[in-house]
Amino acid sequence: MRDDLRALEGYHSPQVQVRVRLNTNESPFPPPAAWRDAFAAELSRVEWHRYPDRAAHLLREGIADLHGVLPEQVFAANGSNEVLQTLLLTYAGPGRTVATFEPTYQLHGHIARLTGATVAEGERADDFTLDMAEVSRVIADARPTVTFLCSPNNPTGLEEPESKVREVLAQVPGMLVVDEAYGQFAGWSALSLLDEDVPLVISRTFSKTWSMAGTRLGYLVAPTWVVAELDKVVLPYHLDAAKQIAGRLALTFVDEMEARVQFVVSERERLSIAMSAMPIDVFPSGANFILFRPRAVEGRAVWQRLLDRSILIRDCSGWPRLSGCLRVTIGTREENDEFLSALSEVAR
Ligand code: PMP
Repeated sequence: MRDDLRALEGYHSPQVQVRVRLNTNESPFPPPAAWRDAFAAELSRVEWHRYPDRAAHLLREGIADLHGVLPEQVFAANGSNEVLQTLLLTYAGPGRTVATFEPTYQLHGHIARLTGATVAEGERADDFTLDMAEVSRVIADARPTVTFLCSPNNPTGLEEPESKVREVLAQVPGMLVVDEAYGQFAGWSALSLLDEDVPLVISRTFSKTWSMAGTRLGYLVAPTWVVAELDKVVLPYHLDAAKQIAGRLALTFVDEMEARVQFVVSERERLSIAMSAMPIDVFPSGANFILFRPRAVEGRAVWQRLLDRSILIRDCSGWPRLSGCLRVTIGTREENDEFLSALSEVAR
């Protein structure tokens, strides 16, 4: 074991058998039946004795079309986690520093440490917004080669306003990564700031909006010179044939995906309003989940009482900076109703 990894803890997300599962920010709906049928039909025609298309040309072209960029600006991998890992293997590593603003997605700092990099953890304000004075301090002190933002941020749900992303971009000495795993649920995307001369990378995933968490497919959009370096670092044939087909076909179901997003956003608003009427602090969300802090009963006790009713949400109450907080993923209307009615009983 490397000495620098000995003290690291793994990433934990407990899975329990429950009736209502609202803990991992998945889509509450399976992909469209027509996608499943088209996928099955194409799978039967795959030449399984051959390696897949190493550069995943058709998938990259499809993603590039979706965002109006060049295929050479797109890099795909096994979930956006592997996208971020490849990026950090390329641009972080021993002797370099990666900046995060906490609380944020745990894997940013975790993967950075796995590459041997040092992590400079900046603090967010008490309301979890980015504190620009702190951003300037961290960037000036640590001179990070990679700086992470996450918008909407997991686990807080907050969107970063465009003005702040622009300000951070103007200050970073290296690369700015905006993790937009929940980007489609938000009102604004940093994709509009992409430019060949700007060291900006935006990562996305098929796991949430596209209802394809089981497929493990994510991607980033970046200047061509970034993607060219990532192609050198990633393992050959890392994207199997089935995954390439799954992703390419999913891109032909944009309307269905957008309908799912609309539904989740409207349910998110319904839940936020209903929860705000309870003795609960509800944080504004641009994602497919809501972070909240019960005021009358301890967060951990609320989580347990929901679990006793076979409703599983994410217990963040013991995480650093998130004392007493819980996170609920938006589910189907029935699941959300059940969650709300149980919450109104256990949180007062
Ligand atoms: N980024 C963020 C902010 C996330 O919340 C997640 C999923 N928990 C991921 C990336 C990873 O997603 P995936 O690997 O499924 O694409």
